[in-house]
Amino acid sequence: MDTENCTNLYLQVCQTFLTCQYDDPSSFEDLYKLLPWLRQSLTCCVCSKVVVDPMSSTQSHCQHFVCEKCRGGKMVLRPSCSWCKDADAFVTNEHLVMLVQCFSKICDLIMNSPIIDYINKYDHNRQKEVALAMKANSTTNEGHSKKRRNGTRRHQVSSRILNISVSQVLQDGLNAKKCLS
Ligand SMILES: [Zn+2]
Ligand SMILES: [Zn+2]
Repeated sequence: MDTENCTNLYLQVCQTFLTCQYDDPSSFEDLYKLLPWLRQSLTCCVCSKVVVDPMSSTQSHCQHFVCEKCRGGKMVLRPSCSWCKDADAFVTNEHLVMLVQCFSKICDLIMNSPIIDYINKYDHNRQKEVALAMKANSTTNEGHSKKRRNGTRRHQVSSRILNISVSQVLQDGLNAKKCLS
C-alpha cells in the first residue's frame, strides 16, 4: 500500500473520530472498517506486523516498506516484487515513521473514549456471527445445490475470520508506540 493511501485512511479515521457524537453510534460506525484498513496499510512486507522504523527503497516506486530489522528478509508478497529486491537501497521512510506515530496516538485516544464500549460490543457480535455461520456450514452438508451454497458461504466466513478485530487493531497501535519509545 502506498503512503498516500495510508495518509488518506488516517485522515478519514481522524475526521470520523473528531466529528462523532458519542450518543449516536451511527456517527462512528465507519471506524469499524477504517481502523482495520489503516492497520492493514501499515503492515511490514516481511513480518506482517505494524511496521517499526519503516524503510523503503529509493530505487523504485512500488512503495513497499519493511521494518528496519526486517530489511533483506523474505517479503510475503504475491506475486513477488521485482522492483525492491536490493536491500541496500532501503532508507528510512520519514513519512511512514510519522504515520505510525499518528496511528498509535489515535488508537490511544479511541481506546480511552466512550467508543471503546461500542467497539467491544461490535467485535463480540461479529465473533458470534462467525461462530454461527461456521456451525451452519458443518450441519447442512447434503445435496449438490446445498453444497454449492455452502461453498459460497464458507468463502465469506473465512475472509471474515481473516479480518482482524477492531480491538486488536487498537492493541496493535498501542504496541507500536512501545516499539517507538
Ligand atoms: Zn517487519
Ligand atoms: Zn516492491
